[in-house]
Amino acid sequence: MEKRFRTLLVLSALILIAAGYIVQVSEEPDTVNETSQPSDSPQQASIGYIGCSNTKQTVWGYHMVSGANIWAVNGRRLHDYDGGAVADWVEDGNKFWDAFDEYLKGSPKTTKIWWQLCIRQDEADMTYDDTVPIIEAVRKRIPNVTIYVSPLAEYTENVCEITGVEGIERAKSLAQEIDSRNEDIAAGPVLGPLSLAEITTEEEDRCHLNERGMRMLGEQMKQFFDNSGSIPAAENVPEGPPAEEFSAEEQVWRNRVEAAMAPAPCPDAPKPEYPQSYYQGPLTDTHLHIPAIPDWPPEGDDLPKDQAPEGRFGGPQALLGWNVKVSDIACTIKLEGTRKDFAFFPVYEEMPEQLLEIWNRTMSEYPEQFTPFIMSSGNDDEPDGFPTVNAEALREMLSPYPGLFKGYGEIGLYARENGGSPELPPDAPRLIEIYPIARQNNLVVYFHLGEGHKDNFEKILGQNPDINFIWHGDQLSANEVEDILSKHPNAYYGVDAFWGHDQDLFHLFVGESKAAYLEKMEADFNIVLRYALDDWKSVIKRHPDQFIWGIDRGDAVWNYDLDVGQMQVKLARAFIGQLDPAVQEKFAYKNAERLLSGR
Ligand SMILES: [Zn+2]
Repeated sequence: MEKRFRTLLVLSALILIAAGYIVQVSEEPDTVNETSQPSDSPQQASIGYIGCSNTKQTVWGYHMVSGANIWAVNGRRLHDYDGGAVADWVEDGNKFWDAFDEYLKGSPKTTKIWWQLCIRQDEADMTYDDTVPIIEAVRKRIPNVTIYVSPLAEYTENVCEITGVEGIERAKSLAQEIDSRNEDIAAGPVLGPLSLAEITTEEEDRCHLNERGMRMLGEQMKQFFDNSGSIPAAENVPEGPPAEEFSAEEQVWRNRVEAAMAPAPCPDAPKPEYPQSYYQGPLTDTHLHIPAIPDWPPEGDDLPKDQAPEGRFGGPQALLGWNVKVSDIACTIKLEGTRKDFAFFPVYEEMPEQLLEIWNRTMSEYPEQFTPFIMSSGNDDEPDGFPTVNAEALREMLSPYPGLFKGYGEIGLYARENGGSPELPPDAPRLIEIYPIARQNNLVVYFHLGEGHKDNFEKILGQNPDINFIWHGDQLSANEVEDILSKHPNAYYGVDAFWGHDQDLFHLFVGESKAAYLEKMEADFNIVLRYALDDWKSVIKRHPDQFIWGIDRGDAVWNYDLDVGQMQVKLARAFIGQLDPAVQEKFAYKNAERLLSGR
């Protein structure tokens, strides 16, 4: 399938909002000026904080993005929390508490404390009991205080030498324990994660934030403390500098981007065990659809989650940041045991900046898990529309983050059902103009061919021997698939859609009920497997270098659930285990790897 996860644009006003949206990122970060303190009113601030240098940097970032409810960072005293690990706050009355008391005096309306747990590597064995004096010290100073506790942000590409991995992990578990054992303590914002791009290169320990990092975490703090209904905003805050101010509409988009990227816990799950006859090795899913953020009116964001719009085949539509996050999908594929999933990242002309920002951030957070394809669908929901944007628009979409994408697709070239765009043959002028862009950007092309697209596809394969093409779908017969593969070494076929020739099972997979799908799949497992083997076993053996495996999930939001992924992986492992031993690894992951080598 090629799926366009668009929320239906009902209001044309939305298009105007999207068009007017400009992502505000300062290309040239200002250096932090220690004397020009971000403006806010210490008297009015209601949230204080405990922590270390990173905590202070984070609060500084919060003020940079115009947060106003947390104690100001006094520029002259930017470093008075340096070295403030949890162990260093245990002794009441030391220099950390002196600094704290001074801030508290300046902000008499403080009712909340954000407590960030900084734990050094060699102190990672500290216990809950060690932290109790700190909680007592806060309660003593602020009656009826609410404490929000957060670990340090995670580092995705390096290890902070002060905390090591152990310190970060301990802070995470300790934060949970402190929260769960105290009525007046709640979980604080989950910050980060931090890639190298957000960490200063000026210090060897690679722990501290650069301006980009401060702004990023500052924005997350703002999101948590200023936009959450439970945290009252400070009143009468004098006007600050106009840094990073968004209009209401821009803020809506901003929030959607942040919601898409919000972290989620990914607890380890027991590794599934498979029968001996199953393939046990690495597995690459080469067909993973990722949903887009919604482009509905702002009120849409508040819809109850059980009222998801209907997806293309009737299931509850997945909307990124609304009912599924990038972190959720990453967690599912990690735990189900696929790796390097070819991910189709939608980029729509109505909101390219937002989506591209999300995909760029996704790749910096999950560089190992996703292989990014740009799914630049066009207006394929219109009768005179196209299944892809034109060459010029594609070029523009590729320009903000050169080298980000490794592939172009999936683009469905078949005629859309329900009065959408007509078929687009592989040799249509619009596509002829796109192939040079694929070549220039070193992109693999992924098509879902339409009926009768054999000859014109072969023409394109012959004209572009240096471009690798993948296609999938059942529009061509198995004989036609084989004929193409035997003539064109740059052609690859994606085997997915294990339905046992049963349309009902397919409709369950894209439909309303996960339970109904899993139940039937379980019951029909061996039938489905038998059909898949009859269809593909011998042809894969004859063309072992040109077949790859994929799931093709993404129509209903529950497609991203772990039990669904595990079911598909189980089926794939059963299937691959029955293939000729000489082709198993090629089909499972090596062909996919080779397709991308040098990209
Ligand atoms: Zn498809």
